[in-house]
Parts: sequence; structure tokens; C-alpha cells
Amino acid sequence: CGVYGVIGPKDAANFVALGLHALQHRGQEAGGIVSHDMDAGFNSARRFGYVRDNFTKASLMETLPGPIAIGHVRYSTAGAKGAAIRDVQPFFGEFSMGGAAIAHNGNLTNAEELRRELIERGSIFQSSSDTECIIHLMARSMAKSIPDRMEDALRRVEGAFSVVAMTRTKLMGVRDPLGVRPLVLGQIGDGDGWVLSSETCALDIIGAKYVREIEPGEMVVISPDGRIESRRPFRPVKPRFCVFEHVYFSRPDSIIGGRSVYETRRQIGVELAREAPVEADLVCPVPDSGTPAAIGYAHESGIPFGLGITRNQYMGRTFIEPTEQIRNMGVRLKLNVNRALVEGKRVVLVDDSVVRGTTSRKIKEMILDAGAKEVHFRIASPPTAWPCFYGVDTPERSKLLAATMTEDEMRDYLGVDSLRFVSLDGLYRAAGEAAGRDPQQPQYCDACFSGEYPVAPSDMIAKGFEV
Ligand code: 5GP
Ligand code: SF4
Ligand code: MG
Repeated sequence: CGVYGVIGPKDAANFVALGLHALQHRGQEAGGIVSHDMDAGFNSARRFGYVRDNFTKASLMETLPGPIAIGHVRYSTAGAKGAAIRDVQPFFGEFSMGGAAIAHNGNLTNAEELRRELIERGSIFQSSSDTECIIHLMARSMAKSIPDRMEDALRRVEGAFSVVAMTRTKLMGVRDPLGVRPLVLGQIGDGDGWVLSSETCALDIIGAKYVREIEPGEMVVISPDGRIESRRPFRPVKPRFCVFEHVYFSRPDSIIGGRSVYETRRQIGVELAREAPVEADLVCPVPDSGTPAAIGYAHESGIPFGLGITRNQYMGRTFIEPTEQIRNMGVRLKLNVNRALVEGKRVVLVDDSVVRGTTSRKIKEMILDAGAKEVHFRIASPPTAWPCFYGVDTPERSKLLAATMTEDEMRDYLGVDSLRFVSLDGLYRAAGEAAGRDPQQPQYCDACFSGEYPVAPSDMIAKGFEV
């Protein structure tokens, strides 16, 4: 998911709508905005579909007045799958001291346990979302201000959270102690206002200046006069940012941890070419997510780069479509092979990841149908063998190709001439860790590749998941 918040300018919701549009790649099912205005109070609009189809309508934006607003773009990981407007964020609740609204990127690993406890004590839930727990915990806290209550609430939750929240007058941003999901601070004009955003690409769209990242374990509270208070609600631990943000999730034009996401992806391709060279005539990306790595692979290997596959710009990301049936069709609806380019060639196909293997299988068929002589897959991440419980929608373990097959078995299953994945060390090097992965204290979260979960997924363990 993507989160965004603005304080300062008149009609902050208009800025939020633009920001959410730039974060659309992080969630395409639904979006929402909450704003506050001294006369109109809190207002909220939550809609299915793209930001551009909803939050461009003047009739809707007029209902979201005020100098403070937050927003969210959603794809479902926690809670009930599929469509329910009650699960669309931001969530808003009135309680003593005026109430608050909250938008959350990530996933809480103890939400089911908390929910049971809260319901037993009388809380009335309105959604199936893990995030709603935070609102109820805030409502029950005895602390004397809303930011203090938020601290209280967040000390009870476990898992991954980058949160943007608002009171009637203040904008707040928090990252979990490991800093699994991103969150950055930007400035509008010369002190006209402040922005919190999942990614820097959504600062660029409104012309805001990138100031800094919210640090892992940090909470910022921004007042209407522009003052920023930085708090440390949690015991400090060594950060473990999601390495998959670098591989796939973030937009390539964003800057994460001082690094260009594009450059990291290109460098993964360079590492792949060194680790897994092959004789071939053409390096082709699987668009769009494989493109920077393919550029790096071609450059390092000296094999010509070409766009052998064209993506239909009017389709979304395949994996963000939540049902398997749509995902299966999605590949053909979305990608087509350029026969004139691949015919008679030995082709290296570079993609970011193999999850279920559906995409790779279809693409291999399409490339061979178009007359390619050989197909070699090069994957810009290690085999995805474990589900993510921190906010990325991977299927259950049994559906992950790499959970049940070796690399050679996967190659045979996909029916390709060769299949190689970048190593964990290669990935870490590409992401700026010159010495590779520190096995004692890994610098990133890489649980979906290594099975080492930095936060025990306790709800899942209670249901029998074995780590
Ligand atoms: P597959 O067809 O192997 O299930 O999905 C792989 C494709 O889905 C990749 O091309 C990639 O762009 C996209 N994808 C990336 N990350 C994820 C993820 O976490 N979950 C899923 N289901 N698909 C992903
Ligand atoms: Fe990111 Fe994978 Fe960790 Fe999930 S498990 S937070 S996708 S690195
Ligand atoms: Mg892809």
C-alpha cells in the first residue's frame, strides 16, 4: 500500500490526491482521503479503483476541505480479500480529545490476537483490517494527548508499519522499529507545508522538496505552525528495511536510503551477469519490473539489449489483481512478444521475481511461439520461498514455486533452457552493501527469500505456520 499526508496548504486534499496518484503502483484496488477543516470537521471519501478516476472530480474534492489531509492507496494483504469498502483506508474514529484518522502501509503480525482482546473488552470493529486495531487501542489509551495515545497504541502492535495519521490539527508519521516499509518527509514551498509520503516519487509530483526519511522507530508530530517534533516511542533495534522494495515494489525513480531504486535494480542485473553468464543474442526485460535489471545485464555481458516484449500501458500490475483467475489471464492481456525481434534468437529474459511461476511459464510459451531458439531466464531476486507477513502480497507457502522445487526442478517446470536467480549476497551488494549480507545481523529484511523472519509472525504461528 501507499500512504501520504499533507499539512499546511489550503485544500490539502488536492495535494494528497496527486501524491496518491504517484503512489498508485503500491496499490490499485482502492483509495481514500480524510481531511479536516475547522468548520466542516473531519471528512472522508473512500472509493474503489484508481485515484485518477475518483479524486479528480471537483464534486468529490469539494467535500474534503481543510489544511490537513491524509490518504491511502490499497491492495489487500491483511483482512478479507477482495472488495469491501469498509476495509478501505484511511480509518477515522472519534474519541476523547477529538479523534484521529490513520493510514497504514505494512501488516501487523499480532492483529488477530489484539482484535480478539479488544472485542472482548467492548471495542466495536467496523472492518476486517489489522489497522483498525490501532484506532481502538488509541481510543482506550489513558494518555493525555492523541500523539501520546498513538505511541501507546503502537507499542502494543507487532509487525511492519509505516503510518501516516492526523488529529484535527496535527499530522503524524511513524515507522516501526525495524523500518520495514518506507516513509519520507518533504517540504512544500518555503515552509508553506509539510508532506509525508511512502516514496520520494510522490514528492516530485507536487514539486515538494525531499527533506529526509522518517527513521526506523521514529515518530514525527507536525503542528499547524510547521514545527516538527521527533519522538522515539520504541526501544531501538538494528533496522531491517524490506529488500524487496528495492527489487520490485518501489518506483524506480524513487530514492530509498539515499540510493536510487533504478540504480540498485540496474546493479542487480550487473551482478546477475557476473554470477550467471550465458551465451545469447538478445537480452529482453519482462516489462516493466525487469527493465532496469535487464539493462544492467546487457551492459555487463555485452549482449545487445532489446524490447522483445511490449506491455499494454492500460493494464495494471498483474499481481495486484487479487484473484488467481484474473492473474492467469493477466499475462496475455498485458504482455505481447515482438516477433520480428526475437525470431531465431537465443534470448535472455530478465524478470524481477518468480512467485507462482505463472508469469514466467506464459512468457516462455509466447517467446517460443514467436520463434526464439533458446530461452534463458535470469531473475533479479533470489527464489521466493517464503510468504511475506509484512505487507507484500505473496501467496501461501504451498503456492510458491521455490518452496517445493529446487532451481533445476523449476527450470524443467518452466520449460526453459536455463534458469538462474541472483544470490542473496549479489542482491545485497547491488543494494549498497559492498560486503554482501551479514549472516549474523542481516542489513535488510529478506524473509521471503531466506525464511528468517525479523518479527515472529505470531498470528500465523498460532495457526500452525512453521518458521
Ligand atoms: P508469478 O507469475 O511467478 O506468480 O509472479 C511473478 C511476477 O509477479 C513477477 O513478474 C513480478 O513482477 C510480479 N510480482 C512481484 N512481486 C510479487 C509478489 O510479491 N507477489 C506476487 N504474487 N507477484 C509478484
Ligand atoms: Fe520485504 Fe520479503 Fe521482508 Fe516481506 S518478507 S518485508 S517482501 S523482504
Ligand atoms: Mg513483472
